[in-house]
Amino acid sequence: MDILLPALVLGAIGFVLGLLIFVVSKYFHVEEDHRIEQIEAMLPKYNCGACGYAGCHDMATALLNKECIVSQCKPIKQDAKVALMAHLDQLFKAEKEG
Ligand code: SF4
Repeated sequence: MDILLPALVLGAIGFVLGLLIFVVSKYFHVEEDHRIEQIEAMLPKYNCGACGYAGCHDMATALLNKECIVSQCKPIKQDAKVALMAHLDQLFKAEKEG
């Protein structure tokens, strides 16, 4: 019986906090541009920061916003670089056409 009350209190606190996290995550959910995910998937994913950004995700965002060029990623291989540049061209062309 001595252990039942603390277990119930901790369980209730856990339930309430879990519910709070669920509600807050639903309320503050931000839909991210799926193109950033596509670009990030084409980067080496080393998150080394050699490009001057905090990681591949930030670099992908900057590429989509035309704030940098693919060559800023130092470890990217030539074939991946060419593929990414073609992908970006396609995205920007589609964006221009509406
Ligand atoms: S240099 Fe390339 S691999 Fe390194 S964090 Fe930047 S985008 Fe990612």
